[in-house]
Amino acid sequence: MGQFSMTISAGAGSVLNDNQQLVYILRLSHTRKRAKLLLNSGIEALNDGFVMFDGDDRLILCNRKYQEIYELPEEVLRPGTPYSSVFGAWFAKQDPAPAETEVSNWINTRRAKSVVGEKLDMDHRLADGRVIKTSNHPLQDGGIVGLRVDVTELTRAKLAAEAASKAKSDFMGVLSHELRTPLTVIMGVAKLSENARLLRSSKALLTAYEEGDVPSEKAKAMLEDIFAQLSGLQQRMVQSGEHLEHLINELLDVAKIESGRLVIEPTICNIKDIVDPVFQQLSTLSRKKGLDFEVVQEAETVFADNMRVRQILINLVGNAIKFTDSGFVRLCIKQHDDMVRFEVCDTGEGISETEFESIFDVFYQVDSTATRRAGGTGMGLAISRSLAELQGGALTVSSTIGKGSCFVLTLPATRTRSEQPEALSELCAEQS
Ligand code: ADP
Repeated sequence: MGQFSMTISAGAGSVLNDNQQLVYILRLSHTRKRAKLLLNSGIEALNDGFVMFDGDDRLILCNRKYQEIYELPEEVLRPGTPYSSVFGAWFAKQDPAPAETEVSNWINTRRAKSVVGEKLDMDHRLADGRVIKTSNHPLQDGGIVGLRVDVTELTRAKLAAEAASKAKSDFMGVLSHELRTPLTVIMGVAKLSENARLLRSSKALLTAYEEGDVPSEKAKAMLEDIFAQLSGLQQRMVQSGEHLEHLINELLDVAKIESGRLVIEPTICNIKDIVDPVFQQLSTLSRKKGLDFEVVQEAETVFADNMRVRQILINLVGNAIKFTDSGFVRLCIKQHDDMVRFEVCDTGEGISETEFESIFDVFYQVDSTATRRAGGTGMGLAISRSLAELQGGALTVSSTIGKGSCFVLTLPATRTRSEQPEALSELCAEQS
C-alpha cells in the first residue's frame, strides 16, 4: 500500500500533522456530500422536469418530475445511460411511433446545436395531449442541461383566448353587416318618402293631372295607389326597425348576462300563451320557404319567465326555419317527470358533432364568412342557453349533417323547493 504523502498547509507557513490532515479531509468530504445533497434536494423540489447530460451525451442526473413527464422506467434513468436510450424509451411509447429518421434527426439537431453553443427550445406535443416546453442549454464542457415545463393548461388558455379573439373580430364584421342592412333600408325608404312626388304612383297622378285626365273615380284609384305604395314602404321601414331593435336587444342581453344583471321572473305559465305568439310570428316565414311548421302541445303549464321562454323558442324555431330548405320544422312540448321538454326539430342542413358545444358560445357561427348563406350574429343560442339555465333548465342539441337538428329546452314544470315561499322563510328562520 502506498504511503499517504500529501502535506496540507494551514496557512501562515504552519503545516498540519497526519491527524489534523485526516480531520481536514473528512470535513472536506462531508461538506461536499452536504453540498451534493442540498443540490439534489433543490433539483427534486423543482416543479418542472430537470435533466443533465455530460459531454458524451450520457445522463448525469434528472429529477422525479422529468421521469413523470415522460413516464420513463427507472432503469433508463440510471446515471451513464446514453441520451439516445432515454429519448428512445419515450419515443417508443408514442402512438403512432415516429419514424426512425425522425428520432435520429432530433438527436443530431440537438447535439449539433449544443456543439456550437446554441440553446434549443421547443414545444413537445405528447400523445395524451399534454404540451411540454423543452429548453436545452449547452454547458461549457459539452454537456447539456435541460428544463421541461408542462404548459398544457397555458397552451389551452392561449388557444381559447385566440379563438375568442377571432370569434370577436369575426363578430364585429358580421355585426356591422347585420346592422348596416336594415339601416340601409330605413335610410333608403326615408329618402324616398321625403321625395314622395318621385314615387311611381305619384308621378302617374301628376302626369294625369297635367294632361287634364283625372275624373274623380280615377283620381281616387290613383290616390289609393299612392297610399298603398307608401304603406308598403313604411312596412319595410318598420320591419327593418324591428330587426335593428332585435339586434340591439340581443347585444343588451349579452351584456346583462356577462355582468350577471339579467333578472328572470318565473311564474306558473300557461304554455299555450307562450307558444301561440311564436307560431303566429313564424308561420308566415316557414310558409314562404315551403316548410311545414307544426306545434304538438302535450303539456299545459311550466314554471318559467313567459317572455324569456318565448324569446328562446323564437330563436330556436327561427334558426330551424333559417337552416332548413325543405321538409318540416316541429315544436313538441311534453312533460317528463318534473320537467317540461320543448323539442325544436328540423330537417335542415344539420350540425357537425364537433360544433355541438361551440354553437352555444357567444358570437360563434358555424359559417361566419362574408359569403355565408344565412344571416345572424351568433348571439341567439348563447343567450338562449343562459336564459334556460337561469330558469333552472338546460338547452342541448343533437344533430346529423344533412338530416337535421333537434334542440331540447328543459324547464321545471313546477316551482322548485328552493324557490317556494316556505323554503325561503325556513332559510330566514335558520339565519336569524
Ligand atoms: P345566429 O343564428 O344568429 O347565427 P345562433 O347563436 O342562434 O346565431 O346560432 C349559432 C350557429 O349555430 C348558427 O350560425 C348556425 O351555424 C348554427 N345553428 C343554429 N341552429 C341551427 C339549426 N337548426 N340547423 C343548423 N345550424 C344551426
